[in-house]
Amino acid sequence: MSVPSPERLVRGSCLCGAVQFVVTAPFLRANYCHCSRCRKHSGAGALAQGRVPREGFQLLSGADAIEVYRPPTGMTKAFCRICGSSLFGGTWPEGPEVSIRLGALDDDPEIRPQFHSFVASKAGWEVLPEDGLPRFEGAPQRHDAGTNSGAARDG
Ligand SMILES: [Zn+2]
Ligand SMILES: [Zn+2]
Repeated sequence: MSVPSPERLVRGSCLCGAVQFVVTAPFLRANYCHCSRCRKHSGAGALAQGRVPREGFQLLSGADAIEVYRPPTGMTKAFCRICGSSLFGGTWPEGPEVSIRLGALDDDPEIRPQFHSFVASKAGWEVLPEDGLPRFEGAPQRHDAGTNSGAARDG
């Protein structure tokens, strides 16, 4: 995968434009998370997110507009306090990777969501698409799941 790269940035922003960022390294992975926390945070059936190494992420503006919510269980949810856009998750702002909401991107990240996680928690009204992607009842069983294991790994 050749993009994003320092030569071909992938831009992202919140709805009001206060928060602007760029991705300069290829996404490591991407998925749809159907857990109850991501559903509520996104207001949608699933939250699409992609992960990039921290060194491949640059916040250009809006650091003071980013509000961080840490639910009692699960991963951090970061959003714009002016417009409410869901922006980042995972271990924001610490950690070796940044989880970025794909819906916040202004350019094509090239990567496509690779699996569905927490489908056991999906909303009753949501019909999962027949997209051929692997589905996981909870957190994905992946060799690169790292130290964020079990139910805590919800993007
Ligand atoms: Zn905003
Ligand atoms: Zn989730």
